[in-house]
Amino acid sequence: MSTSSARSASREAQRRVVIDVNPADTSDVIAEVRQAAAADVEPAVARAKAAFEQWRDVPAPERGRVLARAAAITRTRADELARLLTREEGKTFSDARGEIIRGAVLLEWYAGEGLRMGGRTRPSEMRSTLLFTLRQPLGVVAVITPWNFPWAEPVWKAGPAIVAGNAVILKPASLTPVLAQRYADILRDAGLPEGVLQILPGSGGEVGNALVDHPDVRAVSFTGSSEIGSDVYARAARRLAKVTCEMGGKNAVVVMPDADLDVAANGIASGAFGSTGQRCTATSLCVAHRAVAGGLVERLVAHAKKLRLGNGLEDGVDMGPVVDAHQLDSVLGHIEGARREGLRLATGGRRVTDGACERGFFVEPTVFVDVPPSARIAQEEVFGPVLSVITVGSLDEALAVTNGVRYGLSSSIYAGDASAIMRFVERVEVGMVHVNSPTVGGEAQIPFGGIKWSGVGGREMAEEGLEFYTELKSVFFDYTGHARDSKIY
Ligand code: NAP
Repeated sequence: MSTSSARSASREAQRRVVIDVNPADTSDVIAEVRQAAAADVEPAVARAKAAFEQWRDVPAPERGRVLARAAAITRTRADELARLLTREEGKTFSDARGEIIRGAVLLEWYAGEGLRMGGRTRPSEMRSTLLFTLRQPLGVVAVITPWNFPWAEPVWKAGPAIVAGNAVILKPASLTPVLAQRYADILRDAGLPEGVLQILPGSGGEVGNALVDHPDVRAVSFTGSSEIGSDVYARAARRLAKVTCEMGGKNAVVVMPDADLDVAANGIASGAFGSTGQRCTATSLCVAHRAVAGGLVERLVAHAKKLRLGNGLEDGVDMGPVVDAHQLDSVLGHIEGARREGLRLATGGRRVTDGACERGFFVEPTVFVDVPPSARIAQEEVFGPVLSVITVGSLDEALAVTNGVRYGLSSSIYAGDASAIMRFVERVEVGMVHVNSPTVGGEAQIPFGGIKWSGVGGREMAEEGLEFYTELKSVFFDYTGHARDSKIY
């Protein structure tokens, strides 16, 4: 064995292998995933650069058809992919299937963008001159994704990047690397050439850092916590790379006296406890007008108490586990902190370890009431099935509470009066507002994203999602065929 191959064999042996387990039952091992190291980033970038030179020349409609075929494969394999997603992340099968199908719809949308993608023309001050813009790919793009949407996030980000003609290196969350690899396999089966999408599972501190800092990575698309996102943003900005960060949320639902309380309670409970509260858009605050707060809390507690916890693959299970032991400690830590602050617990608050929950990371759906807006639990993202109810006396007070957090992702109002609803829609400081519906959800055809501590650098999905992965080039085309004075007088 030569010295260099001995060195590489020893490097191979030192690589960490991550055991990907089911958070509902830690004895269920999904995969053993070999982690990439920082040293793997350089060859991945070289492969991506080579693939980009070919892929950029493939006509955009043809690039779109690859996504269309991937969408069709996804639809036929939706149940199998959803089962895997439930095992890897813990959400229920129906939530997982919804995530898979939303990914397919997004691929269908961006397949169409292959036919629509373009710039615009403008009249020139000069005779026989054409002014137009070309929308062009950036080159090598890094995508860094979180664990809570292990399928949707890779699809949402890499889909538009690929149809725009870029080559993508995707670093999935270390907790959920398997679904991202399935996405790459499906795209390969749909005809995506080698090297256009590479999956590089590895730790954020190592592989993520190396991607963010690499001079040939033209853009970084990150989704994750605001703390890591702000660091990624600053580092990428230092070398003037393009960067977008979609981050955490502290999403409030306002309930006014003329709301239908049954509808509101249903929406708040599904926003707070659906997917175990592990959605960036999860409902974390309920800002209730005092005229209806009592009746609303009664209904919310009843909803929380009837939820069945367990393995999301089993029939009748409404809520799965949190994703791992670290997340369990973090959620229980928030609950304990609120208790120490003297906040009143209306239901929940404990880890569940009996029956169907004995081998997983389960937390009861939890509701705190009479929470002051300044309490830690009313300000920080908990990212678990925990709801804080705050009572207010007017719409303006509700707006002050909703806008009084540093995040700005999603919010919702339940009300009947159109002027109150529109005042809320106009004044609330978020990227997405829902009316008489939960704070969660997004659709491929409308931009998704937040402001303040929740998002920076552009929206995802729809036409706006494509803008991030392209540059506009302005073209001044003089077809007079002779020299002329081109000053504008
Ligand atoms: P996270 O800890 O910030 O990690 C997100 C990704 O960044 C992971 O792939 C992580 O790798 C990587 N990473 C960690 N350190 C890094 C570094 N120094 N440089 C580059 N990359 C690094 O977030 P998470 O816990 O996975 O996800 C939950 C968070 O995501 C919540 O705050 C949630 O609100 C947010 N989220 C936001 C949206 C949205 O659209 N706004 C959507 C979904 C989730 P490792 O896994 O190896 O640590």
